[in-house]
Amino acid sequence: MKDPNSSAGILTIDMVELARNWQRLKSSLNNADCGAVIKAEAYGLGAGRAIIQLCQAGCKEFFVALIDEGVYLRKVLSDVSLEANIHILGGPMFAGQALEEHNLIPVLNSLEDLALWKRKHPQAPADIHVDTGMARLGLSPSDVVILQKEPQRIKGLNIAYVISHLACSEDSKTTMNADQLKSFRQALTLFPGCKASLANSSGIFLGDKYFFNLARPGAALYGINPTPGKPNPMSQVIKLQGKILQVREVNVPQTVGYGATHQIKEKGRIATVGVGYADGYPRSLSNKGFGFLGGVRVPIVGRVSMDLTTFDVSNVPKQLAHPGALIDLIGPIIPVDDVADAAGTIGYEILTSLGHRYQRIYKTSN
Ligand SMILES: *Cc1c(COP(=O)(O)O)cnc(C)c1O
Repeated sequence: MKDPNSSAGILTIDMVELARNWQRLKSSLNNADCGAVIKAEAYGLGAGRAIIQLCQAGCKEFFVALIDEGVYLRKVLSDVSLEANIHILGGPMFAGQALEEHNLIPVLNSLEDLALWKRKHPQAPADIHVDTGMARLGLSPSDVVILQKEPQRIKGLNIAYVISHLACSEDSKTTMNADQLKSFRQALTLFPGCKASLANSSGIFLGDKYFFNLARPGAALYGINPTPGKPNPMSQVIKLQGKILQVREVNVPQTVGYGATHQIKEKGRIATVGVGYADGYPRSLSNKGFGFLGGVRVPIVGRVSMDLTTFDVSNVPKQLAHPGALIDLIGPIIPVDDVADAAGTIGYEILTSLGHRYQRIYKTSN
């Protein structure tokens, strides 16, 4: 744990709200199961803590991208005598024994993966990913035709779930979702009796046709709005605060920061916070983003630099804007999606970029 006095940013991660978000999604799924996608360190929040918290809340199906992530999380679970299924979205990736040794379930993404798994680990469970519109990972439509003609290719495989992934689930208006649903249903006829999984976070909000046996939410667990344009049904999980290192009273016209991109015309007060783009606070927030201090919205003025960001605190009572005071950068009053909007990106990228210099506080009770 970092010395709170020596770090200039405090990242509070509310594990209670994380579990609550999972419960919320689970209870909206009727009888379908709710898994959790905890790839990339649970979207930057800490996968080891997340898997324990969610496993204790009742989640039994976890998804990561890489075998290494799965190996690490298997150890985390066994250290506290917990059990759960860990699925590897990236596939078997030519791995030797690591998958079976650590009891990991690969997602088979190609006919080659299927053949390899059948030859090497005929008993061990695996998922099959059917691509229905991403052209990224999974069996292509032509692979599915081949399987139709040669069903022996899947015979004898121990299939945990047949999965697919939605390309536009956050857009409930597009026909793409229904098209993918139809393709998925068609493909499922090749796997009679197998369990299926389609919905990511936003997919859960497209209705029960998308539920199948298991949903795979990631983003919504961490507070990202799965229904953009509508109120966020999820709670914010993180709070990021930056510490003011210095407050500068400006009384003559002057510019602020690299490139002199902000001009103070007459006078103003500038607070410099010890958080910058090296901490994952995007440079694209320069002259666009904002924080909150004492309930007052404080705009970023000038460029975000590597370790520092400057805020205009002219409208904040003087006694509140002092070195050591904390400016809220992300959190309940500045949802991660708003920060992403201002930065021209998505909440996913904001969370997965959260840096390593913050003092991280994991809140485990209210
Ligand atoms: C990342 C991922 C998810 C989770 O998506 P969210 O939008 O974060 O809920 C689900 N399924 C697959 C295949 C993924 O790659």
